[in-house]
Amino acid sequence: MKTEIEIDNEVESEIDSIYLEDIDKDFIKYPGKSSVDNNEKLNDEEKIEIIASHFGAIMKTLGLDLNDDSLKDTPHRVAKMFVKESFSGLNPANEPSVTLFENKYQYNKMLVEKGITLYSYCEHHFVPIIGKAHVAYISKGKVIGLSKINRLVQYYAKRPQVQERLTNQIGEALKKAIGTEDVGVVIEADHLCVASRGIKDTGSSTVTTFYSGKFLNEEMKREFLSLIK
Ligand SMILES: [Zn+2]
Repeated sequence: MKTEIEIDNEVESEIDSIYLEDIDKDFIKYPGKSSVDNNEKLNDEEKIEIIASHFGAIMKTLGLDLNDDSLKDTPHRVAKMFVKESFSGLNPANEPSVTLFENKYQYNKMLVEKGITLYSYCEHHFVPIIGKAHVAYISKGKVIGLSKINRLVQYYAKRPQVQERLTNQIGEALKKAIGTEDVGVVIEADHLCVASRGIKDTGSSTVTTFYSGKFLNEEMKREFLSLIK
């Protein structure tokens, strides 16, 4: 006997395949490119054009009048926002370059950058995840420009995400960028899919953590957590 979840998944994957088939027809314009694998080969303008046509179809399906003055530019406006802003982190060309500096002052304790504002999107509902990221690392000889930490956080946030993956991606990216295992990341965020629909819980928020190297040490963890309170 199938559980409810298994049946749900089956129906969902059926829906997926119907929609993907439809979408692929529109990609005939770009021969040999599938909508899923080759989005990197489309330039931004091509992506905007395709998304705008689909978003217009969504609006029409909902019964909105695309001839209305206020609505007529919305498909293009939304498509541009998706490609250039909300989901710009899906394009590897937008990965921030990271410059490192010598650790001149021999500061070898933990450096914490806290309260980095984070806007992302829940990949299940495409509604905002709004929160704060707190990041800490211990230098292995090099230090990173503080604004670069912000940029790395934004890069991974600007994708459809789940908070757990976002947290890990930021942690791993920092390890690589700074050349140290000693990295900690805490993200606290509100998911509008929880707050404004479904269960409609406006009071809850979600906390996720990433600890690596010296941050696996309980004392180090405690110090980090007390600094971001
Ligand atoms: Zn959601």
